[in-house]
Amino acid sequence: MGRVLQRLDELYAIGATRVAYSAEEDAAHELAAGWMREAGLDVRVDTAGNLIGTRGAPKVWSGSHLDTVPDGGRFDGALGVVAALEVASRSEVPLAVVAFRGEERGCIGSRAFAAAGERPPAFLELHIEQGPVLERANEPLGVVTSILGQVRAERVFEGRADHAGTTPMAARDDALVAAAEYVLRVRAAARDGAVATVGRLVVQPGEGNVVPARVTLSVDARGTDLDRLVAELELEPTYRTEPVAMGGAPLAALREAVPGAPELVSGAGHDAGILAAAGVPTGMLFVRSLNGGASHSPRELSSEEDVMRAVDVLEAALVRIAQ
Ligand SMILES: [Zn+2]
Repeated sequence: MGRVLQRLDELYAIGATRVAYSAEEDAAHELAAGWMREAGLDVRVDTAGNLIGTRGAPKVWSGSHLDTVPDGGRFDGALGVVAALEVASRSEVPLAVVAFRGEERGCIGSRAFAAAGERPPAFLELHIEQGPVLERANEPLGVVTSILGQVRAERVFEGRADHAGTTPMAARDDALVAAAEYVLRVRAAARDGAVATVGRLVVQPGEGNVVPARVTLSVDARGTDLDRLVAELELEPTYRTEPVAMGGAPLAALREAVPGAPELVSGAGHDAGILAAAGVPTGMLFVRSLNGGASHSPRELSSEEDVMRAVDVLEAALVRIAQ
């Protein structure tokens, strides 16, 4: 087994649960700090606890996060840090390797980093796809062109509770029937690369022999045109993040390093999205997820062959940007 996978194993051995600012995330950062020193990088920790290893005056930054969701996989986040470290130890590129804190808790570390005002000249993040697109296309790597924006909202449907046996169909005001029609509207609105999900439905009174009087449902809609989704689904979002485009030298360098690779959008948020939104030229490389794209789970997997290919592409792109 090569060093990259070995290091992913070492991080995983700390714990499959390494939530933000826990002892496990701390231990992962300590381990990575040692690897940074081994690679000859100067190590510092910023006020948010982000770990940053630099060589000279870095012309490019690369990295990801070392925290996980509870019982997460061994690639999400960790791969991006370990791969950037591998490039740092293989070559003399004047780069910075960064491990951001608490990505799974809403990108705590990268948000704090961006808010503190430091602006890397360019940022490149390697990440496992966490979805089935590359596996289905039989492609090992993909170039991310944008990270979808996201809105979350709740919708309430009011009807009237009545006896399920004695109330004629024409006399009913069934809140769940209205909600069901709305669920199909949500699905229909998910076009042009958008995705939309009703993941929670609360039916009241929730009795098998009572016509539903009230339904509360959740909507999670993501896309590059949030205004359309909000208008079409009549949402009053309780949470909204804008879509961000990858671009500049990092995107160009990735396209050059993997000519013909599929280009895709990311439906999940990433540290790269926070930096891009802060005006940093940012690129993102996805490596194929196996097991149908299983992620946030111990079933998360990429092959060693794909990982090594991804590290080579990351190195080529970082060298190119740093020129
Ligand atoms: Zn991640």
